[in-house]
Amino acid sequence: MLMSSRYLVNGSPRCCMFCGEPFRPRDGDIEFWRTSAGQHFCSEFCADDAEEAQFRKRRAAAATHPGLGAGSPHL
Ligand SMILES: [Zn+2]
Repeated sequence: MLMSSRYLVNGSPRCCMFCGEPFRPRDGDIEFWRTSAGQHFCSEFCADDAEEAQFRKRRAAAATHPGLGAGSPHL
């Protein structure tokens, strides 16, 4: 099996998980943006957008379920 990139291992994502674009090769290696959470994006912009979307989702969930917010009201 020929591997041109050290990043192209079995199971590793090859597409941006935010916009779905495939990662672009540069200098023979596939380049992608990896967050501390282990998520892969095609650029830091997608990483930022995804983070913001997740943050909004979390806030929306906290608003819908107040008990899941900061702390428990039943202490
Ligand atoms: Zn992207």
